[in-house]
Amino acid sequence: MVKPVFSIVAPVYNEEEVLPQFYERLTAVMRGLGEPYEILLVNDGSRDGSLAVMNQLADVDPHVRVVNFARNFGHQVAVTAGIDHASGDAVILIDSDLQDPPEVIPELVAKWREGFDVVYAVRTAREGESLFKLATAKLFYRFVYRITDVDIPLDTGDFRLMDRRVADVLRAMREHNRFVRGMTSWAGFKQTGVGYVRRARAAGQTKYPLKKMLSFAGDAITSFSYFPLQLMIYGSLLLAVLAVVAGTVIVFLRLFMGEAFFGGQATTIVLLLAVGAFQMFFMFIIGQYVARIYDETRNRPLYVVASRRHLADTGVLPPTHVSSMEVPDDRQPELQ
Ligand code: UDP
Ligand code: MG
Repeated sequence: MVKPVFSIVAPVYNEEEVLPQFYERLTAVMRGLGEPYEILLVNDGSRDGSLAVMNQLADVDPHVRVVNFARNFGHQVAVTAGIDHASGDAVILIDSDLQDPPEVIPELVAKWREGFDVVYAVRTAREGESLFKLATAKLFYRFVYRITDVDIPLDTGDFRLMDRRVADVLRAMREHNRFVRGMTSWAGFKQTGVGYVRRARAAGQTKYPLKKMLSFAGDAITSFSYFPLQLMIYGSLLLAVLAVVAGTVIVFLRLFMGEAFFGGQATTIVLLLAVGAFQMFFMFIIGQYVARIYDETRNRPLYVVASRRHLADTGVLPPTHVSSMEVPDDRQPELQ
C-alpha cells in the first residue's frame, strides 16, 4: 500500500443508515483528487450495525481502515484516535453523517496546496437543525470563544484539513478533556477558512443532546480559559467594598447621630462581609495555584516550532513521549 497523501478521519456513532452513502460520496471526491488516500473510520462504540457496515466496506476497499473502540468514548476522543492512526501528509476531519459535505474537501485541499497548514470549514448557513440547536450553538460559540485564551474562529466545527505537522502537534497533546478545534488553533501555523453550507443530517438523530453540549462547553472553557477562576477576585472585591461602605455608614451614624443604628446586628453584617471578602480572596489565590497545577498536568508541549535556520531539530518532546522510549539492549541486564 502506498503512503497516503490524504487521511480522512470520520468518527462513527450509530450511523449505519448514512455510512454507505457517506462512503460513496467521499470516495467519489477522493478519486477525483487523484492522489493516494485512506479513510479512517473510528467506531465509537456504536450499538447499531455500524461496525458491520464498516467491515463490509473494508472488505472490498483497502482504502478503508477501521478503528473499533471497546465502548463509546465520545466524539472528540474518536477524532483523536483517528488522527493518531493517520499517516497522510494532510489529515481531514469530517463527520460521518454527511452534515459536512465531502464535496468541500477539494476546496480545503486547494488552500493547503497554497501553503496553509490548517484549513477549517466555516458554516455560512445551517440547514435542517432545530431553532433550539441553532440558538444554543450560536450562544455557545459567542460566549465560549469570548472567554477563551486562544483565537478559535467562529462558526467552525471540527470539519477541517490539517497539515501533517499540525496533526503531530495534536498527537503530542495528550490532555484528557479534549476540545479539538481549540487545540488546532492553539497549535498555530498558517490557518484559514473556507465557507460552506452545513447540511441537514442525511439520516438518524444528533448524538449531541443538550447534556452533551453542556459538557462539551465545559471542556472548551476549562481547556482554554481561566476566566471562571478569575471571577473570585471580583467577588472578593465586591464584598470588600460593601464591607467598607457599610462600616463607614455605621461609624458615621454612631458618631454623629449618637445612636447605635441596627444595634449589634450592623457590626455582624460588616464582619460577615469582611470575612467573606477575605475568604474569597484566598480562594482566588488557591485557584491560581490550581490553574498552574492544571497547566503542568496537561503536559502540553511548551512551544511549537514552525521552522528553524542553521539549527537541527533537537527532538524536544513532552514527557509523555519519553515514557514510550525504548531501552537500548545493552542496558537491559542493569535493569534486571
Ligand atoms: N459521534 C461520535 N461519538 C459520539 C457522538 C457522535 O463518534 O459520542 C460522531 C457522529 O457519528 C457524527 C459526529 O460524531 O459523525 C458528530 O455527531 P452528531 O452529528 O451527533 O453531532 P451534531 O452534528 O448534531 O453536532
Ligand atoms: Mg451531525
